[in-house]
Amino acid sequence: MNRDKLLLTPGPLTTTLRTKLAMLNDWGSWDDDFNAVTASVRASLLKIIHGADSHVVVPLQGSGTFSVEAAVATLVPREGHVLVLDNGAYCKRAVRLTSLMGRRCTVLGFDEAEPVSVTALDEHLRGDATVTHVVLIHCETSAGIHNPLKQVAAVCESHGKGLIVDAMSSFAALEIDARNTRFDALIAASGKCLEGVPGMGFVFIRKAVLDACAGNSQSLAMDLHDQYVYMEKTGQWRFTPPTHVVAALHAAIEQFEAEGGQSARLARYTQNYQALIKGMTGLGFRPFLDPAIQAPIIVTFHAPSDPSYDFKAFYAAVRARGFLLYPGKLTQLETFRVGCIGAIDATDMVQATHAIADALQDLEMRR
Ligand SMILES: *Cc1c(COP(=O)(O)O)cnc(C)c1O
Repeated sequence: MNRDKLLLTPGPLTTTLRTKLAMLNDWGSWDDDFNAVTASVRASLLKIIHGADSHVVVPLQGSGTFSVEAAVATLVPREGHVLVLDNGAYCKRAVRLTSLMGRRCTVLGFDEAEPVSVTALDEHLRGDATVTHVVLIHCETSAGIHNPLKQVAAVCESHGKGLIVDAMSSFAALEIDARNTRFDALIAASGKCLEGVPGMGFVFIRKAVLDACAGNSQSLAMDLHDQYVYMEKTGQWRFTPPTHVVAALHAAIEQFEAEGGQSARLARYTQNYQALIKGMTGLGFRPFLDPAIQAPIIVTFHAPSDPSYDFKAFYAAVRARGFLLYPGKLTQLETFRVGCIGAIDATDMVQATHAIADALQDLEMRR
């Protein structure tokens, strides 16, 4: 088979031919043509969150985690105190990077099958005035939970705390509106629901806190304030930009807008999710999460209870049929994950469940 396999993962994702073709040019990093692409991407990103009045957007080279790390380093003063709302592996990653950068970090832990609790956050902030910033993962990609961003933002605002949101796997699919949801920083990346290719992240920073960010970062390359100031002055990236990634993101955003923007993307992913659930429950698989708290981004399924089940063999049998699954990331249970995002539709999801059915039969026969 010459066709690329479909990536049912949380990124990199399946991209369209048009997005791939956008990478066939060479660009000069200082050239006006490329600067115009960067400027256009930045303006489009701000539009997605209705943030042109309240926020700026700062792109950064690297995978999504680079931008999370840069956001914490840039937003949180060295003597700041970060409270991480923890209900999964990406939260634990945020705790680790915050601690490694020498910022004081406290963890408010929750079950990995439950959204973070706004009441618990409110209580914690009442009891500890030293917290300066709260970190929330909007869609906890490890289980697939949709965390209550709007409510968390309201509690942070009422306590006068900064909010840093990792919206990596939700941005452009779940609704995020800067006009009614206050956050100091929100982070996403090129290779997730915008359906670009991986290689850059971007951070929305609230204008009201931007100036105070100068000098916070102990890192040269990860200083978003410096990146912002330089980009505003010159129209250029501070250091070598991922030119092809930016060009691909520009093409991906054009397609995103033509599709109908965030609500249309959410509608397609929801159809993907429904087709997946229908097919998988028909095969006897059980989703890990309560549907009420499940984001239509990535679904965690319990592994088959058959003692001979082995993820690697299951993965290989599904892979041979053209679909790439994703391993589970839960601490206690044996699970696997199936992504609903990328340039795929409900027909692809139905075919994926057929491939999974055939794979199971294959493994059964080999046994
Ligand atoms: C994908 C993702 C990231 C970034 O991961 P990278 O491997 O650095 O791209 C961060 N947070 C969440 C919630 C994610 O889904």
